[in-house]
Formats: sequence, C-alpha cells, structure tokens
Amino acid sequence: MSVVETPPKDEAPRHQATVTRTQQVTPKMRRITFGGAGLSDFETSGSPDERVLVRFPLDPPHARSFTVRRWQPSKNELEIDFVLHGHGGAALWAATAQPGETVHLSTASGWFKPPAECDWLLLVADHAALPAIGRILEEAPDGLPIHVIAQVPAPSEQQTFTTRADAHYRWIDEADSLLAELAAIPLPPGEGYIWCAVEAATARRIRAHLRRTSEIPAPRMHVMGYWREDKENWERRYAVVADRIDAAMGEAMMAGKDFEAVRDAVDDAMEREGL
Ligand SMILES: Cc1cc2nc3c(=O)[nH]c(=O)nc-3n(C[C@H](O)[C@H](O)[C@H](O)COP(=O)(O)OP(=O)(O)OC[C@H]3O[C@@H](n4cnc5c(N)ncnc54)[C@H](O)[C@@H]3O)c2cc1C
Repeated sequence: MSVVETPPKDEAPRHQATVTRTQQVTPKMRRITFGGAGLSDFETSGSPDERVLVRFPLDPPHARSFTVRRWQPSKNELEIDFVLHGHGGAALWAATAQPGETVHLSTASGWFKPPAECDWLLLVADHAALPAIGRILEEAPDGLPIHVIAQVPAPSEQQTFTTRADAHYRWIDEADSLLAELAAIPLPPGEGYIWCAVEAATARRIRAHLRRTSEIPAPRMHVMGYWREDKENWERRYAVVADRIDAAMGEAMMAGKDFEAVRDAVDDAMEREGL
C-alpha cells in the first residue's frame, strides 16, 4: 500500500523523454521541457492534476511522481515544474539537468474530478502542488469562482496563472496555518468541489476536518499527500507497525466500506500508532 496516495496501476516506463530546455519559474521552481521521439505517443489523461511517474537516470534507481504542467502534442513538448527543495534525488537532478539528458515517464492519470454540477472550487496547495493549480486554473471554465489557498516557503515563490475563472488567491508561508485558513473560509453557496494536495501529515489533518467537521460528501472533495516531511525517519517508524495498519485497511475493505471510509480507517490506525 502507498501511505501517501494510492498509485495508478500502470507505472511502467512507457516514454523516454529528453530534456530540450530549462527555465527558472521562481528561485526554487525549475521548469524542464522534454521532447524526443519517445513522447510521440504520449496521451493526456484529460485530468489537470495528471501525474506521471518519472524514472531518473540515477544509481540506485529513483522514481517519483510529478505533474504534467503542460503537454503540447503539436510541438511534442511536455513540461514538468520541479520544486528545488534541495534533498531528494529528483530535486537534485532537476537542479542541474541539461539538454540531452533523458528520463522515463509512465502513462498519465489524475484525480481532479469535480461533479458535473459544480458552482465553485476551493483549491488548497503547497509548493509542490502549484503545477497542478496552474493547470486547473488555466483549464477552468469562464467565470467559475475559484478560491486558492497556497503555501510557499517565501513570497518569491508565489506564481500568477492565466485563467478565465474568477480566481482569488490567499498566499501563506506556514504549512501549519493551512488548516486554520481553510476552516476560516465560509464555503460559498451552491455545490462545490474541494481539491487539496499538500504534505502528507497536513493532508491527513485537512482531510479529517473536511470529512468530520465540515461533513463534505466524498464525491465533493479530494485530498492527497504529495510528499512527506522527514520521510526517511517516518518510513522506519511505519515499517514497525505496517502489519497493524494493513490489518485496519483490510478490515474496512472486508466491511464493504467505500474508498474514503477505508482511508478514514487507515488514517485512524496511523493516529493510534503515533504516525
Ligand atoms: C500526484 C503527485 C504529483 C506531484 N507533482 C509534483 C510536481 O509537479 N512538482 C514537484 O516538485 N513535486 C511534485 N510532487 C511531489 C514529489 O513527488 C515529491 O516531493 C518527491 O518526494 C520528490 O522526490 P525527491 O527525490 O526530490 O525527494 P525524496 O527522495 O522523495 O525525499 C528526500 C527528502 O526530501 C524531502 N522532500 C521531498 N519532497 C519535498 C518537498 N516538496 N519539499 C520539501 N522537502 C521535500 C523528504 O521529506 C525527504 O526527507 C507530486 C507528488 C504527487 C503524489
């Protein structure tokens, strides 16, 4: 099981992608444009938060999830925006990648699925989710009210996106304030959809708030952990209790619970184990 987010099924390396150019979007966000014959049969999933598993040319092998910031079939160009957070293999590779270097990409799939009747969007994101926020805004319909709460490590990391929607931004600099900001927003009238992608522990707190305090119905929200703070230490602690967490998940599945209710059971088990 993935403790951050259930991965799409097809994670095989389907497309070789060659770096064609790079661009600094903000001081800590680097856009890498890929091309090459291996992308000629790339297909978008149609979802603006679509993700590919990127396999980097590193030893030992290293693969991580990234958002397709833009795919332009007419130019055979695919862009990914990488946060330069300075620790992991992906971030370090992206900081110095040069034209001619290659990675491999899986097929794309996404989670952003607002119901057909949707009067507004509320998007909650951190730095790593800004590429998805950019696409959601760029692809949103005319005049749709969209509230964005975004956390970045410095004001210089804020971005402006082109959109036909009626977008409002609230930029904050502390991840710990995300839940309070979200809780303080009066939800607009009508039926909306809430999409959230942030650090995994923060995502769990936000999801619990939306499910249990705000009682948002499952089809009207999607909350994901995009990365995990102090991951190495967390994974060591997780390994010790993995059996008990898997058992809680199995029990919820056997009871016929829906996907979000199974996630509730897993989150509760993690809380019990102090994870
Ligand atoms: C569906 C999905 C889409 C995503 N899209 C993007 C995207 O478009 N752009 C993007 O930059 N990221 C994106 N991410 C997040 C990215 O996959 C993770 O940040 C990943 O851990 C980066 O890999 P790494 O090799 O740099 O670091 P890892 O080897 O995974 O981790 C090394 C260390 O770095 C820390 N770390 C990892 N990510 C961050 C971070 N963002 N900020 C601070 N510290 C961090 C970890 O806690 C760990 O201690 C996405 C994740 C998902 C699930």
